[in-house]
This record gives sequence, structure tokens and C-alpha cells, in this order.
Amino acid sequence: MCIRDSCYECDGCYGACPEDAIIKLGPGKRYRYNYELCTGCAVCFEQCPCHAIDMIPEPPAEASQPAS
Ligand code: SF4
Ligand code: SF4
Repeated sequence: MCIRDSCYECDGCYGACPEDAIIKLGPGKRYRYNYELCTGCAVCFEQCPCHAIDMIPEPPAEASQPAS
């Protein structure tokens, strides 16, 4: 997930997330996602009034492992 500059901090996604996976960082700092809690349900993405949220597919598990 990533939030674009068009986000105007309406708290819509923050309030809509059923998993409390969106963490508010304070005025001007926008939000952070807790990827441990996020289920990828896309509720935040769908309700954003200015389409400021991009859904990014998770990389395959093996891609995140250090090369051996
Ligand atoms: S995709 Fe769903 S669970 Fe993840 S941050 Fe958005 S609303 Fe929350
Ligand atoms: S719903 Fe969209 S505009 Fe509102 S806080 Fe979330 S990302 Fe920003």
C-alpha cells in the first residue's frame, strides 16, 4: 500500500479499516500501514475520496528472503 501526495488526511481510510491496520502519524505526516494486520481487503482503497491510495501486491515470500 502507498499513499499519494493527494491525500488530504480526511481520516476516511483510518476510520474505515476493519483491522486497525492504519496508523495515524499526526498532522502533515499522514499514515503508516501495519502490514502484519492488513488483510488486503481494499476497504481503504475503495473509500478514499481522492484515490490517494495505491494497492501494491505483496512480493512473493521467497523474494523477501536474503539471497544465500
Ligand atoms: S486493505 Fe483493508 S486491512 Fe489493509 S489497511 Fe486497507 S482497510 Fe485496512
Ligand atoms: S481516505 Fe484517502 S484522503 Fe482520506 S486520509 Fe485516507 S488516503 Fe488520505
